[in-house]
Amino acid sequence: MKKIQIKNDVNNSLLGFGCMRFPTKHGKIDRELATKMLDYAYEHGLNHFDTAYSYHDGESELFLGEYLKKHDRKSFTLSTKLPVWKVKKYEDFEVFLDEQLNKLQVEYFDFYLLHALNKERWDIIVKNNVFKFIEEAKAKGKIRYCGFSYHDGKEPFKEIINSYEWDFCLLQINYIDFNIQQGAEGYDLAASKGIPVWVMEPLKGGNLVTLAEDIMNHYQKVNPNDSAAKWAFRWVHSLPNVKLILSGMSSLEQVEDNCAIFDDITPLNELELKIVDEVRVMINNRVKVACTGCRYCLPCPVGIEISKNFSIYNNSYMYNNKGSGKWQYNSNLKIEQRSYNCIECGQCLDQCPQKLPIPQLLKEVTAYFTE
Ligand code: SF4
Ligand code: SF4
Repeated sequence: MKKIQIKNDVNNSLLGFGCMRFPTKHGKIDRELATKMLDYAYEHGLNHFDTAYSYHDGESELFLGEYLKKHDRKSFTLSTKLPVWKVKKYEDFEVFLDEQLNKLQVEYFDFYLLHALNKERWDIIVKNNVFKFIEEAKAKGKIRYCGFSYHDGKEPFKEIINSYEWDFCLLQINYIDFNIQQGAEGYDLAASKGIPVWVMEPLKGGNLVTLAEDIMNHYQKVNPNDSAAKWAFRWVHSLPNVKLILSGMSSLEQVEDNCAIFDDITPLNELELKIVDEVRVMINNRVKVACTGCRYCLPCPVGIEISKNFSIYNNSYMYNNKGSGKWQYNSNLKIEQRSYNCIECGQCLDQCPQKLPIPQLLKEVTAYFTE
């Protein structure tokens, strides 16, 4: 397992185990299978585990705490995340931290993150004196390093990263999404300040592992035996300021594959980076409906969520993942919001700036998801 100097006194596996997608049974973590997965990873040199207060409705921290008891505390590093949206006053910070230390049955966290920061949450915790809390928690030995995970635009990111001497930050980065949220600009800013970046969603929630055949052929012309996942991980590893790559693994096969990939992982070379650039274009060219999501076509008299139908269809087709698309179509859209309810009244047609033939396209969506 490739190791990397994550901080001066921390030499870790480059791959971290994200504990938010354990397999489940009857709505709870399947502890037997999840234990096998963690054992396999640990035995193959993975020594960083990442969880959060909210993962698996609180069960992830409890389960991981039970699991980690059998290992020497110094043989692994542990990160978890403060549910900042629950903090109403200064005292709450430490109440949550202590609760998390208890649940994970440890004396300290190597890395503690302020979870899923955005502008609104940031303003609230700054008012509640978050910097004082961090300094005190460090002084008491409850946390070694403090960072944050982030989901908002470029401007709030600049404000947050410039406001404190952060030890690291956790960003959503993969080769398709490098320009959303904080964007490449945010990554560069962190790098210029010497703040190590950790990566979440390197496979875009699994979307980058199920690519269409022509795209896989393009990859395999260069590296015939490499999976799409390996390309995606190697692309992230090519960013020199990335010091940890988190993967939320949900099956033993994924753990085995990822451990094999990270055994001898190397950054992409110039030719391979060019291939990824081409693949990015190929994926984006698979967009089926040029809907911008402006919603001018709404309301529809029968209640169809027109742009949501198109967005689920586009994503499913782009990433060649019909199963996940079908699941989203049936779970994220109420029955009356689905494409097959269109009565072809034509009311939406004049409203669409893209001049999309909406009723016809909705028929296409219906055929794709219901055949
Ligand atoms: S044509 Fe279909 S989608 Fe458009 S407004 Fe009428 S029912 Fe709604
Ligand atoms: S008006 Fe057209 S582009 Fe805008 S959301 Fe509706 S279908 Fe999409």
